[in-house]
Amino acid sequence: MSLDTTVVCVWLMSGFDRPLHYRLPASMEDMAQPGSLVRVPLGRRQVIGLIVEKDCEPEVSLMQLKLVLDLVYPTPIMTPELLKLGAWLRQYYGASIQNVLETMIPGPVRQGMKAKSDKYVSANKSVDSESLANLERKAPKQFELYQFLAQQFRAQKKSLVLSRLGASPAAYNGLLKKGFIVEESRKVERVAYDDELGDVEYASKQEIVLNEEQSACVDSISLSLKAGKFATHLLYGVTGSGKTEVYIAAMEEALRAGKSVLFLVPEVALTPQTVGRLRSRFTEHKDAHAVVWHSSLSDGERLDAWMALANGTARVVVGARSAVFAPLEKLGLVIVDEEHEPAFKQDESPRYHGRDVAVYRSYLEQVVCVLGSATPSLETYRNVKLGKYKVDRLTKRIDDRQLPMMHIVDMRIEMMRTRKPVTISSLLAQKLRDRWEKGEQSILFINRRGYNSTMLCNECGHVEECKHCSLPMTFHRSDNTLKCHLCGHEAEPPWRCPECNSDQIRGKGSGTQRIEDVVKSILPKASIVRIDTDTMGKKHLFREILGDFRKGKIDLLVGTQMIAKGLDFPNVTLVGMVDADLSLHVPDFRANERTFQLLVQVSGRAGRGDLAGEVVVQTFTPHAEPIQFARRGEVDAFLEVEIESREQFQYPPFRHLVRQVFRSRNADKAMFFAEQFARKLEARVGGKIEMRGPTPCSIEKMKDQYRFHIWYFTQNVSALMRDLKAVEAEIPFPKDVVQIFDVDPMSVS
Ligand code: ADP
Ligand code: ZN
Ligand code: ZN
Repeated sequence: MSLDTTVVCVWLMSGFDRPLHYRLPASMEDMAQPGSLVRVPLGRRQVIGLIVEKDCEPEVSLMQLKLVLDLVYPTPIMTPELLKLGAWLRQYYGASIQNVLETMIPGPVRQGMKAKSDKYVSANKSVDSESLANLERKAPKQFELYQFLAQQFRAQKKSLVLSRLGASPAAYNGLLKKGFIVEESRKVERVAYDDELGDVEYASKQEIVLNEEQSACVDSISLSLKAGKFATHLLYGVTGSGKTEVYIAAMEEALRAGKSVLFLVPEVALTPQTVGRLRSRFTEHKDAHAVVWHSSLSDGERLDAWMALANGTARVVVGARSAVFAPLEKLGLVIVDEEHEPAFKQDESPRYHGRDVAVYRSYLEQVVCVLGSATPSLETYRNVKLGKYKVDRLTKRIDDRQLPMMHIVDMRIEMMRTRKPVTISSLLAQKLRDRWEKGEQSILFINRRGYNSTMLCNECGHVEECKHCSLPMTFHRSDNTLKCHLCGHEAEPPWRCPECNSDQIRGKGSGTQRIEDVVKSILPKASIVRIDTDTMGKKHLFREILGDFRKGKIDLLVGTQMIAKGLDFPNVTLVGMVDADLSLHVPDFRANERTFQLLVQVSGRAGRGDLAGEVVVQTFTPHAEPIQFARRGEVDAFLEVEIESREQFQYPPFRHLVRQVFRSRNADKAMFFAEQFARKLEARVGGKIEMRGPTPCSIEKMKDQYRFHIWYFTQNVSALMRDLKAVEAEIPFPKDVVQIFDVDPMSVS
């Protein structure tokens, strides 16, 4: 074996959670590069892996290394920067190689699926007339087929020629062998942007001229684009201030400079208008194909889209968090719309935050990152204060439209007045009637789904919980069942309280169905439609409803906060928030932030057209800070107060938080391993790490698994994760105890 054999370092899709070394056969020397997918032997199996490094020092002698078997695709599917990003994901989020690869590379690509190719056939025009005359005499069928193909302007699909024309395979193959016809393979073009949002008309046709504030923001981003280095901008603009047009102008500039663009939204299906606008702008750019990356792409579409990006055919990707790994060549600009949205956080390993990965990728690629929001996250706000991010502001709505007036209804007073539980206050009812009479539209938002959300015993306070998860069940009136929204378990609602046998067990709280009923009694003749998670599952229905609402066929939309994002309906002049408190009184240090963001987002849906908007917020705690700041539209002031309280308790963004969860069907076992972990870590780093727990999680039991967690606070995630991973490796976890890390967790339950 020659000494100059190339050794590559490979991450396997399955099997080992560490890089393995292989030798490259000479035939692959040039083609196999970092980022190439290869097939390699592993024991007796063959597995697919990713070359992460070339020319590495093997740990064992060359003789012991096995050879790479073959290349899955002729070109690398990952850029060098993406490989670095993968290494960072693995380390920062404490994830396994397999999880990282599964997250970064879509299934069909990972599994080595081949692009579908079709054979095309055309006549060989240079055949001389003598041979043709010969053919006509000896094989009239073949001659006929040749004649047909010779008359066509372009190559014909082989399958069509054989099926529709009824040409015999024998005649076809005969012609092919003699060289009368030629075959070529062509990739099928699958159109990846013709998706579920297809026929809704979202794009405004009118020519848009940016206003002064918008132009200033574009100029500021342009400066960074020209500098060609890493820079992060916060596009901080009130709802309806025209952020999307700023993104579009910046994207156009990057494209003109020959660069490509990555655009992230919290969820494609929930931001149809933003996606629709981008699509209508960028699918027209002939040389800058756009790919909309969303969950309902078929495997084939996903493969084509990925390959189109990897080879530079497509230069714009619009998608949810996983699009952050799109293999764009010559990346120039990364945009994260609604950067504060928790939906950017993935809730399985690696538990990455799409926004944070976007910023880190921008740093690796040395490009510009734009984060947009009306209510920036505290994390982003802190980076602005530290001078790490530039801020570009949009302080006014388009055409100086007023931000809606927000009324706060104190539901305690409302209940005292009526002496019974109230779903819709008299103020909200009166305004709903008023809008309907004027032919204007309204939206009502609620914090949860189902009819009377929980079953509560009025005698002893017992709440019906799911027996697999320690969570209250939700009552659904339509089929008279209790459902667990976590695991899907269904049960019959009890007639008597299982604790005290009282018959005073009732539904508590107001779900979407209940509110729909109440509103129907207030507006008996209006057209009212409800959207909730159940409706959301049916994409076509959702699209249809939004379309009808836009056309004015629906007067009032009732829905959960899921529909609060990004909708722009000019005729909506009233927005009601039925139970603002529900997100407030939860044991989460982000509760204030979430409630504030929700209120601002929700009220941002009103008054986007020529008519002024109004918002009615119903609450039992009218003086709570998030509600008051939202009422006055004081985002900066809210952020200031909130950041102070975070600093006082040294919560994020002042320190990073890492949550470690242990779960098992056996509660004692889960607790035992949690305690053992804590002890071993203590022995290793002794007092250097601030740690709390182990304690039971607030949802103690989930899907029949008991859960305990440990919290770590740190300034240096990478160092902490190194220690945690080292301790993890020391403990022989049994199969029935699962342990996970959640770095920078968004959920604390
Ligand atoms: P945001 O994302 O900040 O909430 P949008 O980008 O959705 O705001 O813009 C709100 C509305 O204003 C959209 O209908 C958009 O087409 C329109 N718009 C944006 N910029 C302009 C402009 N310069 N002139 C006219 N209309 C504009
Ligand atoms: Zn009871
Ligand atoms: Zn359950």
